[in-house]
Amino acid sequence: MEKVIIFSAPSGSGKTTIVHQLLKKYPQFEFSISATSRAPRGQEVDGVDYYFLTEEEFLRRIAEDAFVEYEAVYAGTHYGTLRSEVERIWGKGNIIVFDVDVVGGVNLKRIFGEKACSIFIMPPSIEELERRLVGRATDAPEVIAKRVAKASQEIERAPEFDHIVVNDVLEEAIAATCNIIDKFIAE
Ligand code: 5GP
Repeated sequence: MEKVIIFSAPSGSGKTTIVHQLLKKYPQFEFSISATSRAPRGQEVDGVDYYFLTEEEFLRRIAEDAFVEYEAVYAGTHYGTLRSEVERIWGKGNIIVFDVDVVGGVNLKRIFGEKACSIFIMPPSIEELERRLVGRATDAPEVIAKRVAKASQEIERAPEFDHIVVNDVLEEAIAATCNIIDKFIAE
């Protein structure tokens, strides 16, 4: 069966680290490259990190019904999954791995139903999340404050996911995630 695995988490939960480890471990996993209308940051490459579109192009693709799911994650900045991306990965017989925000994760689970396993990566606490974001030293204090406030709202939606993995000790969180995935793949 065609399958997808969806990861969502508040910013700073360690989701991206976990997803990168899993992509190395499971050769049949392929990361779904989202489209976005935000500008590339740092070393980001078009067609690798995202498909970078202008806002006009993005809106045109919405009108063409080119997206499985899309969202204005930030005001004036769209993110979404192109139908062509899903076809590209399933066409190779691979399992699609999504790394999307919490609203996108809930939407994708609704769209893919039984084909999907949705996993919410939970920080051990809001205090620990804040500590990690400060330690990462990539964001300004007001950005961190916004992310922490958003995290509280996102955590409320965790029960809408098939599984919740608490990321306290990274190795343990990865092991717990692998258990869930192994069962899902075997189904
Ligand atoms: P960033 O700009 O930091 O790369 O991503 C901002 C947010 O957009 C993150 O929470 C990321 O998970 C989310 N995001 C990335 N791709 C998609 C997508 O295809 N759909 C949705 N709904 N959110 C996405």
